[in-house]
Amino acid sequence: MKATEEYIKEHFELYNRAMFGGTLPVPPIHLTNARTYMGMMTCRKRVGLFGKKHFSNFALRFSKRFDFTEQELQDTLIHEMIHYYISYNQLQDSSAHGQLFRQMMDEINQKYGRHITISHRSSKEERLQVIGNRPRPRVFAIIEMNGKHFIKSVPRIAMRIRTMHRWLLSAPEVKSVQWYYSIDPYFAIYPSSMGRHVQRIDLNEIQPHLLNATPLGEELTLP
Ligand SMILES: [Zn+2]
Repeated sequence: MKATEEYIKEHFELYNRAMFGGTLPVPPIHLTNARTYMGMMTCRKRVGLFGKKHFSNFALRFSKRFDFTEQELQDTLIHEMIHYYISYNQLQDSSAHGQLFRQMMDEINQKYGRHITISHRSSKEERLQVIGNRPRPRVFAIIEMNGKHFIKSVPRIAMRIRTMHRWLLSAPEVKSVQWYYSIDPYFAIYPSSMGRHVQRIDLNEIQPHLLNATPLGEELTLP
């Protein structure tokens, strides 16, 4: 099943009453097209004096791309509700899934026979399933930095590629940058953006896919 606003709202109220003492107001619920997460609680975070965090502007996001089992969707919702409960009450956890989160998660799992886990991001397999087998043209750089490998996918626009290329090479840690074009759907799991961040990859895993990709020459021209 796919996430719908109606289903989320209805179950939010159910779990709110049963598990959170009915204390949580329904936040805005957004359905997205994200491939990188199934559910996510977002909020504004300000760090005040002595590192105390203050949370506001809460929202819940669910991706419409995933075909959930009913239990998966419910567990994903409850997972996000734990994040929401902690932030809404301005409780300070030791990390994103810190002591407090785990304690609440364990209690709920035990008391209500749920199977909530700390991973709410979609796994690579799940993302590949969503992406499917149809060709997906992608332009990306494989970056070597401090003996590790990273990937950065950008929109297929020559100017964007050059801009990103210059930015990558401006980092002194970067040892090499090789650009590729590929239609292998595998690479679509890496979101394409001009954001200044790269993702760590396992070169052994990516190598078979790279063999069929077209390296871009010095001019960085698209095939
Ligand atoms: Zn989480």
